[in-house]
Amino acid sequence: MDSDNNTIWDEACKQLKGILSGDIYDRWIAVIQCLEVSENNLQLAVANDFYKDWLEENYFPMIRKAVMIVSGKEMDITLSVDSSCFGPIKADPEPEPHAPISLPSLGFGQKKPAHNLNPNYTFNSYVVGASNQFAHAAAMAVANSPSRTYNPLFLYGGVGLGKTHLMQAIGNHMASKKPRARICYITCESFTNEYIEALQNNSVSAFRKKYRKIDMLMIDDIQFLDGKQRLQEEFFHTFNALFESHKQIVLTSDRTPSEMAGLTPRLISRFEWGLITELGKPDVETRTAILRKKAELLNLHIDHELLDYLAERISSNIRSLEGALIRVASYISLTNQHVDIAKIDELLRDLLDKESQATINVDIIQRTVAEHFDLRQSDILGKRRSRDVAWPRQIAMHLSRTMTTQSFPVIGRAFSRNHATILYAHDQVSEKAKDDRTLQQTISILRDKVKKNCAKAVQ
Ligand code: ADP
Ligand code: MG
Repeated sequence: MDSDNNTIWDEACKQLKGILSGDIYDRWIAVIQCLEVSENNLQLAVANDFYKDWLEENYFPMIRKAVMIVSGKEMDITLSVDSSCFGPIKADPEPEPHAPISLPSLGFGQKKPAHNLNPNYTFNSYVVGASNQFAHAAAMAVANSPSRTYNPLFLYGGVGLGKTHLMQAIGNHMASKKPRARICYITCESFTNEYIEALQNNSVSAFRKKYRKIDMLMIDDIQFLDGKQRLQEEFFHTFNALFESHKQIVLTSDRTPSEMAGLTPRLISRFEWGLITELGKPDVETRTAILRKKAELLNLHIDHELLDYLAERISSNIRSLEGALIRVASYISLTNQHVDIAKIDELLRDLLDKESQATINVDIIQRTVAEHFDLRQSDILGKRRSRDVAWPRQIAMHLSRTMTTQSFPVIGRAFSRNHATILYAHDQVSEKAKDDRTLQQTISILRDKVKKNCAKAVQ
């Protein structure tokens, strides 16, 4: 990094520091690393997708403005994910040189722990409710007696429902109890990239050694293995080696092992050896409790009434809920203005729109399509293959994919079919609609009807 990088980004940071509250600055801006500055481009990086999404959703315009003020011109800003940066980098000015294949040694604060866990993801900051009670209890059991209770522990659930948080809480707990334990948290995507690099550099044996001497291996978003044969083979052996030497394995995924169509049966059966547990959508009480906790942790002073309103309106996932909280809090700290419910609606219009999209559900789509084609919902769900039923069924599958935020496996379950069938139907309808005006019209009419039926259902 040359001195110009330092100047522009450091100056921009000073601007941001002036307008954001200390907590928010430390939490969201101080963790950004400036990788490179060219004439019109500033390349920034953060440690993971979570920071990236949040920054893009909430602070990007502010960052852009600050950069414009200090550079005197509009610059392109790119924000990428680089797992080698984490925590308040200002407190750790001398990054360690790249270690070749060895456990990531990343720092927060003064002392560098031997793991790369987010220190905020603890059991203490995790709110327990009906939707996650069982997963939480299992995670606690694993954290207290690694490899003695459930091995592997397999946590699954939709986006933003707390899988990564809970998984890292296990790691943080173990790190505090056994500081010398070798704990490795890695996303399946990084694991894959590391493996590919090892293949390219002929260092597969070093890769193996590294992963086989770990005390607790946590791989996040393991659905990434789906369909990758060679990687599965490698992971299978790592899994066995760790399991046989009584090391704990924790995995997360957006679906159950058996819903991963491209996963070899022997891995599915390994995953089923331990405990598979779901993180569901939290109810309104849990959402309220989570918001109150987050506000407390971030030292934000927001009326409980407003927090309750946010919890009520945003129900699809906790990440969006947090995004909403931060946006409202930064508005308050930037403008010092009073915020009421009407103001919240205005500030969060895009998020609230996404929410109403999330309330469209597959059941309403099935009913609407059935009614439109003069069928019954049971025909859509049934097995009859004649075209007068099969085609509307495929259209319903396509609409379920395009009008909801549900994944193929979840939609598959709602149609009592596997995810490949939904994928196929979705592709068929999309392909045909490209040059079939009548079909385009039918789809558009159906979309309107679905929205109307949803609006009726929530009244
Ligand atoms: P996932 O990995 O399932 O996509 P994350 O673990 O990244 O979800 O959670 C998204 C955000 O929501 C994180 O900031 C996390 O701290 C927060 N969160 C999720 N569940 C809870 C919970 N039960 N209590 C407190 N915070 C939670
Ligand atoms: Mg996650």
